[in-house]
Amino acid sequence: MDFGIRGKRALICAASKGLGRGVAEALAGEGVDLVLNARGTEALEATAAAIGAAHAVEVTAVAADITTEDGRARVLDAAGPLDILVTNAGGPPPGVWTDWNRDDFIAAIDANMLSAVALMQAVVPGMMDRGWGRVVNITSRSVKAPIPALGLSNSARAGLTGFVAGMSRQVAGAGVTVNNVLPGSHDTDRVRGMDRRNAEAKGISLAEQAASRRAGNPTGRDGDATDFGAVVAFVCSAQAGFMVGQNILVDGGHVNATI
Ligand code: NAP
Repeated sequence: MDFGIRGKRALICAASKGLGRGVAEALAGEGVDLVLNARGTEALEATAAAIGAAHAVEVTAVAADITTEDGRARVLDAAGPLDILVTNAGGPPPGVWTDWNRDDFIAAIDANMLSAVALMQAVVPGMMDRGWGRVVNITSRSVKAPIPALGLSNSARAGLTGFVAGMSRQVAGAGVTVNNVLPGSHDTDRVRGMDRRNAEAKGISLAEQAASRRAGNPTGRDGDATDFGAVVAFVCSAQAGFMVGQNILVDGGHVNATI
């Protein structure tokens, strides 16, 4: 299927590795010009070069912390007018519910809620003026089913989800769709880091921890960033124009719910 987005321009935040990179590769495969962001220069430039070499698209890399006002300003300045926005950032640290103070909550809300809100407020008006746009926020399965060790993520992402539920209905009439895509466990640095922490806490090997996590998934495996990217690319497609304000799980069926 041709997704009908060849020649569009997309900003993908936090995209040098993991899920963001998977999205970048999928959109490049659809002929979309990319602006990629991450904090570290080395991995970002390597990813931009690899995608640019594999696909006939323009790739611009902007090293910046997307959770800061200054970082967002620099990324948006380099990006110019955008047709597609994919918000993403690193996830908050794990812990137990008594661990986190006000500053921890503010940092998580800044990174995983307010950064996405600020990016949408900056980019969506231009999309509305031009009559077409796609926004995807990468959130988490923790929005549908809380992950006890990730209370900061559960909280901040619930806030973003509530915001999107309201604003997506206010911009759809101008041809802009806003949706959230919710990853379950995917084989990325983030999940490998969580596995290391859990293996240490339980006194088991990393391999045992990863195997027990995968065994808890109906598919018996992790997702990979390529599969995840393909789902996001579809949500950004011309064909997905009637999909508004949805929370789309990509988790191998891990969240055990009828709806
Ligand atoms: P990852 O493999 O650790 O990759 C994170 C990417 O984001 C890297 O490119 C990193 O590069 C960049 N990044 C991190 N913080 C940034 C910031 N402040 N500004 C700009 N770039 C930043 O993580 P992932 O697994 O792809 O996860 C992406 C998001 O999905 C996270 O919020 C995570 O919590 C969430 N999630 C992931 C899973 C999963 O299974 N993987 C499941 C549920 C939710 P630099 O470090 O160089 O900045």
